[in-house]
Amino acid sequence: MSTQRHIAIIGAGIAGLAAALDLNEAGHRVTLYEAAPQAGGLAAGFRAPHWEWSLEKFYHHWFASDKYMLGLIERLGWRDQVLFPRPYTVIYYQGKFYPLDSYVEAFKFTLSKFGPIDLVRFGLTGVYLKLTPRWQPLEQVTADAWMRQWAGDRIYNALWRPLLVGKFGEENLDVVNMAWLWARIHARTTRLGTFVGGFQAFVDKLADLLRSRGVEIRLSTPVTQIRRAEAGQAGRLTVATADDVATYDAVISTSSPALMARLAPDLPESYSASLRGLKSMGAIVLVVTLDRQLTQYYWHSLAKEAGFPYLAMVEHTNFIGPEHYGGDHILYLGDYLQTDHEYFSLSKEELLERFLPSLERFNPAFERSWVRESWLWKTAYAQPVPPVNHSRNIPPIETPLPGLYFASMSQVYPWDRGTNYAVEIGQRAAALVMAEASSNE
Ligand SMILES: Cc1cc2nc3c(=O)[nH]c(=O)nc-3n(C[C@H](O)[C@H](O)[C@H](O)COP(=O)(O)OP(=O)(O)OC[C@H]3O[C@@H](n4cnc5c(N)ncnc54)[C@H](O)[C@@H]3O)c2cc1C
Repeated sequence: MSTQRHIAIIGAGIAGLAAALDLNEAGHRVTLYEAAPQAGGLAAGFRAPHWEWSLEKFYHHWFASDKYMLGLIERLGWRDQVLFPRPYTVIYYQGKFYPLDSYVEAFKFTLSKFGPIDLVRFGLTGVYLKLTPRWQPLEQVTADAWMRQWAGDRIYNALWRPLLVGKFGEENLDVVNMAWLWARIHARTTRLGTFVGGFQAFVDKLADLLRSRGVEIRLSTPVTQIRRAEAGQAGRLTVATADDVATYDAVISTSSPALMARLAPDLPESYSASLRGLKSMGAIVLVVTLDRQLTQYYWHSLAKEAGFPYLAMVEHTNFIGPEHYGGDHILYLGDYLQTDHEYFSLSKEELLERFLPSLERFNPAFERSWVRESWLWKTAYAQPVPPVNHSRNIPPIETPLPGLYFASMSQVYPWDRGTNYAVEIGQRAAALVMAEASSNE
């Protein structure tokens, strides 16, 4: 092993935990700082007192192709705790829901609604995007323009436009590049997975393992500043919290880009400007429990144009049974929004007033008396927005400030953010720290 270094990691989300594991296994000393009272970041969960399993605050599942996440779980020997049930996904089209999570279903839908020519265009674009590894030419054009041209307006308006508008808003239709849509179609599967006990159970198990191996995890400890250490300590950095200041050989930050630009004032302006230039959407999710099942399906993709007040209705207990949640039937009503959208300033009660009436569109028998409890979760940093030629905008993990590394959702491009890529970028950041450590010996 190379000389032991003391590394600070900011953020005990999936990226921070994955980085901590690799650094610890290589014999380095690791301190993890986490602002929240629990580990897990955006993938964290919560648990009502009568639930056996935790529930992700924001809906989460793995894809069968999530090789970094599943590889990590395999390495930890926990593969037997990963479940891949068979939930069903539907899209809303002209007043009805259609299953659309297999090629057969998608072809049936396209043929019946649009005819054989559109079916061929749909099939060819789908096969092309699934098979081609070349995303670079696709990032030069917007998803809106590419799909209109190749899939045609009817298919685009029925299937892809609602997704793009829902995720990024109308205002970003002429911004988001086609590599983003390529990545979703290329890398995702219809099989969806989770961990026994929920994502939080996985996170807690990993955090416990790290602690048992000597990693210090400081929960409820927001880092307020990262600075170059005093002269004479070349390459070392200080990490400040409200309580103390400590010096490290290297620091990996997994915060949002905007926060990173503020946390590290010694970063050169060119790097900070590239952090500030990265755009993203926020998300709000209202979790509602019912005393009975609302629909047969897990994921309902909706269209804003159809008058739904949110982008997705996810009946979680059609994925993981209500028996794990004390018999509660759980719905997520979620949306991606700019952070100045009024939903961010509305209370849970106000959002319930806006959202609950629409549940009748999923099941006409729905009544308010079916609702048991509700929770509201919000985040300002939920979904990076990738504009045309975005690969030129991505700041490197190794920052120009010696010893400081930055690993966030905004840098996993061309892939869409997800816990799988959080593992991958956390591992990459750890590898860079270790390469630097051994080159200095
Ligand atoms: C609505 C929604 C749905 C999603 N669905 C899925 C899905 O189905 N499947 C999937 O795989 N992924 C999904 N994701 C994405 C997934 O949650 C993220 O890609 C992943 O969790 C990112 O991990 P991370 O460690 O990079 O960042 P984060 O999870 O953001 O972790 C960063 C951590 O840093 C901490 N932090 C920030 N600043 C400081 C500071 N100054 N001091 C100390 N700590 C700090 C934060 O509290 C946080 O815990 C979804 C995300 C959202 C928002």
